[in-house]
Amino acid sequence: MKVIHVASEMHPIAKVGGLADVVHGLSKELIRMGHEVEVVLPKYETLLLSHVKDLQKIDSRWHGKVDHVPVTFLEMENISLKSIYGEPDDPSRFIAFCKAAASYIKKADIIHLHDWPTSLLATLTDHKTVLTIHNMQHQGLCAGGIGLPDPINPDQTNLLRTGIENADSVTTVSPTYAKEILSTQKGCNLQAVLKKKGVTGILNGIDTDWWDPKIDPNLLVHFPPNVAQAKMQNRIALQKKLQMAPPKGKLVAAITRLDPQKGPTLIRAGLHHTLEKGHQFILLGTPSTAEMEKEFSTLQKEYANNPNVHFHFEFDHALGHMLYASSSLILIPSIFEPCGLTQMLAMRYGTLPLVRKTGGLADTVFEKINGFVFEKPDAVELTRALDRAFTCSNSKWEILQKNALESDFSWTASAKRYLTEYRTTLS
Ligand code: ADP
Repeated sequence: MKVIHVASEMHPIAKVGGLADVVHGLSKELIRMGHEVEVVLPKYETLLLSHVKDLQKIDSRWHGKVDHVPVTFLEMENISLKSIYGEPDDPSRFIAFCKAAASYIKKADIIHLHDWPTSLLATLTDHKTVLTIHNMQHQGLCAGGIGLPDPINPDQTNLLRTGIENADSVTTVSPTYAKEILSTQKGCNLQAVLKKKGVTGILNGIDTDWWDPKIDPNLLVHFPPNVAQAKMQNRIALQKKLQMAPPKGKLVAAITRLDPQKGPTLIRAGLHHTLEKGHQFILLGTPSTAEMEKEFSTLQKEYANNPNVHFHFEFDHALGHMLYASSSLILIPSIFEPCGLTQMLAMRYGTLPLVRKTGGLADTVFEKINGFVFEKPDAVELTRALDRAFTCSNSKWEILQKNALESDFSWTASAKRYLTEYRTTLS
């Protein structure tokens, strides 16, 4: 089968969030299974080209390979590609990209679209399309005329809605989120459209080659077999490098975009509680707004003289890997979470997730099995869950950690489900 992903992100060359990991991981796995795959991306100026092999230019297109996945980069006349998102007119940039992709793609069994940036392509191609929704909150609202109107403001076009109505099939990134987005509360005004269309939930996988504590070049000490010892050695080195106090109690991490979706108030409450109980905390977080930046830099100032906490507000791959390998717990108190990769990455590195029961977190983390779970988005429930973790006996912790380490979150199972979806779409 020939599958072409048309996307706005791809790990590791153009990454903002989990969408990038899905495009990369699913493509690699489909190729491994013997299928023909290509990824089509905008030729951003910020692409990390050191990860692209055999790059060559043919007319206005660039072709190369990322981890053996053929990738085509498109340039569009008079369209700024300075950054992935955040330019004054993102919808127009991605509409131009969809048009360029439609005229580039000549032959495919399935064109796989991702979120609002590439949704419009469903109306511009005769090929069969599958649209994956990674996050309902972002819908690509723009001036009317090109796609379907927005249900709330009919003068505007809603690119995601256009994609949902016109794609041959629609999926989202976890079974629980697939149910949640049919509700008024989480459907972001598109619940009726989704109900009519039908949506399949397929849990994301993680790239187990890239995220492998046995060989990860970012770690000081690899594991297994000696998980506890290796994690502690990594932790000692990391805390020293970050000029923190030596290890004391548990190390709690948060590795996240600092965004209302991720429960910033709960992250703050979790940080306070962790330190109050004599444990340590590292926050690796990228603020998504000026407000978030202000809120968290105030928190950083509050703890300026506390050596048991460290704040890092950049997107830092290497620190992320080392932090997964060094931490005891990862805090993920999301208000909603379509799938979430951090809980799966953490488990692969023997770090227990402490999560709110929502979306993909509810499908992957289970209390008393492989982590700690709370339901209501409030600080009382969160601190109770933290206390359960802090008072968990060593023997019980080892069982949870073993279960976490043995979980199979590789792309194999997810890719098989996508293939079933592609075949149903083609039949
Ligand atoms: P989302 O896509 O909503 O941001 P996910 O959990 O699906 O959340 O994916 C987040 C990915 O980004 C994970 O691979 C996580 O390790 C990584 N990540 C998030 N913030 C940072 C950061 N500041 N530095 C390094 N990696 C980060």
